[in-house]
Amino acid sequence: HLGLQVDYASELNANQLLAATTIEGKVLVIAGAGSGKTKTLTYRTSYLIENGVSPKEILLLTFTRKAANEIKNRARTLLTSRLLDNNPIDGKALNDITSGTFHSFCNMLLRQYSGLLGINPRFTILDTGDSEDAIDLTHKEKKYPTKITNQAFPRKKTLQNIFSTSRNRRIPIRHLIESSYPDIAVHIPVIEQLAIDFHEYKRANHLYDFDDIISQVVRHLKRNDTFRQLLQNQYRYIMVDEYQDTNIPQKELIDLMCAPASVSLMVVGDDNQSIYAFRGANYENILLFGESYPEAKLIKLEQNYRSTPAVLDYINALSAQITLGYQKQLYSDVSMEGIKPVFRRLSDESKEAKYIADKILESKSDYDYQDFAVLCRTSFQSNYVQLEFMERNIPFIVVGGIRFIERRHIKDVLAFVKILYNPNDTIAWHRILTLFKGVGSVTATRLTQAINADNNSFAPLITTKFTKKSTQLEPLYKMLSKASQAESVEAIIELILDFYMPVLKINEDNWRERSEDFRVLKNLASEHDSLDSFLENLALDPPNDSVATAGVPEQGEESIDKNRDKVTISTIHSAKGLEWSVVFVNSLVDGMTPHYRSLSDFEELEEERKLFYVACSRAKARLFLTAPDYFSSYSGYFDKVSRFVAEVPADTITVLTVKQPIDESDDPVWW
Ligand code: ATP
Ligand code: MG
Repeated sequence: HLGLQVDYASELNANQLLAATTIEGKVLVIAGAGSGKTKTLTYRTSYLIENGVSPKEILLLTFTRKAANEIKNRARTLLTSRLLDNNPIDGKALNDITSGTFHSFCNMLLRQYSGLLGINPRFTILDTGDSEDAIDLTHKEKKYPTKITNQAFPRKKTLQNIFSTSRNRRIPIRHLIESSYPDIAVHIPVIEQLAIDFHEYKRANHLYDFDDIISQVVRHLKRNDTFRQLLQNQYRYIMVDEYQDTNIPQKELIDLMCAPASVSLMVVGDDNQSIYAFRGANYENILLFGESYPEAKLIKLEQNYRSTPAVLDYINALSAQITLGYQKQLYSDVSMEGIKPVFRRLSDESKEAKYIADKILESKSDYDYQDFAVLCRTSFQSNYVQLEFMERNIPFIVVGGIRFIERRHIKDVLAFVKILYNPNDTIAWHRILTLFKGVGSVTATRLTQAINADNNSFAPLITTKFTKKSTQLEPLYKMLSKASQAESVEAIIELILDFYMPVLKINEDNWRERSEDFRVLKNLASEHDSLDSFLENLALDPPNDSVATAGVPEQGEESIDKNRDKVTISTIHSAKGLEWSVVFVNSLVDGMTPHYRSLSDFEELEEERKLFYVACSRAKARLFLTAPDYFSSYSGYFDKVSRFVAEVPADTITVLTVKQPIDESDDPVWW
């Protein structure tokens, strides 16, 4: 393989090469943004296969399924572009690599090994909103108090958050509430009981929430020797990108699978980019890697290939402000010095949006639309930008924010699909039944009980006397019976939509706009040949933009994922791992970035700082930072430039019109 080595060596630097060609053992690659971590995984994937590793033995875990596919596709190109004299490799072989997110991998395991694990493979997945509803229903069913000595019981959103954090961070509910939610401490005993009931509810109805999917696999790995050994023999080469955003159960999963020395593991990450603590991610996982694997090799990558020196100076200065974790200073070889990042203060959000649009149109001769991204801390901060882009005919896609499958009408349609797949899914039943006039939550509960008691047949829809208007449910009965006989996923969706459209028209004023999303849904349905894979794909890897919100509509728009020439508007969280030539980061005032809620908590503030670092480090050539004085959505003035901008040495950035000096000692006046 000497001839091949030369090729790898010409495209990778020494440490990247070392990482890509270290086949056995445990390896941690830790490095700053844009240093080629993901690229190294790509080359390692192709290197493994060239060296005779079977694709079936490879497991590649990434943050989105799209990221995994990108790595596989690039590795495929690499492999096929090499002329392998004696040993031509079929690019199709890469399809046999197991890849995706932790959730999709665990979901696959639970279904594939359901027999061995003794579980029902036809479970449905509850997304966060569904879990909240399930918690609410459990609470009502158990008739727990809604108030104790005038203290209202926490909302379902809060409860879902508490349950999830408690599991992902391994903090007992009681401790979590005492430390983070002291106001509701009086409810602790009920909440603890509710957590148990909620769990039981899910189990009884074959429902798994996102946390269950991973925890259950971990549980089985610990208890079931056959299962564990099976996986350890199957997945001999494991790679994990963005390791800094794994949580404790995910780390445990990896550790259980990689326990034998014969299993090769490479994790790559940047502790400065851990931005998912709110979902239980634990950046310490990366720092503790050496403890789990004392024999592990540590490889650092120190050259940045993404950004020009002018932009990189700024990114390095930001990274120096992050106190927790490894310190990294990256250098760049790019010969062109480039242009320093620009900070611009504007009077309000619409001026800010206008400035961004101006800059894009000004530099349109040098770039395509797809080379630009506007990154926002939260999705609502992109509202003005979206309006401005529409007005000025700048095409764009929106990523992150209210996701496709979280939209009410999409959830409605999926509820029908879910009960066809798992008639035990009481959450879905509830959702459907309460769509009808005259069917309230009480009737819905009784009806679902009748359906469950009747061996999950749809018959109680027409036979029960619970509702005076039971005749109304006859069309539902007919549709479900027909759909359960349908030949394809597409046909099922068609039947559901025929039935649902009139309901949508009655319930929603903007039904026309909403029904645009159904095109996306139908397209997706046509790509799947079983309800199983269709539902899994939507739950675990949903499209995150839709035709309806995708800016200037295009004729004959087919699939939402085709790479078209559009500006990306994204939350920072969804921009992880990606890069653009020109990046805008907006709303950079203290109170927005960092968010005012994080100001009093060191770790939260640190995470906000990392978020800002992630945003800026997406930029290749130009970085624009903007801050409006006035936010009409808050009806408030924000006097101070974000501390993240203010704390960095002034010579790394060009500042245009700061209205007033920044005084760190003042309390923010907008509180
Ligand atoms: P992030 O932390 O943001 O995920 P990363 O470390 O994964 O970044 P990559 O996305 O792999 O970095 O690489 C950043 C850019 O640098 C890509 O455009 C990649 O093609 C380029 N690059 C990486 N290594 C090299 C190299 N040795 N020679 C040329 N270009 C490189
Ligand atoms: Mg990467």
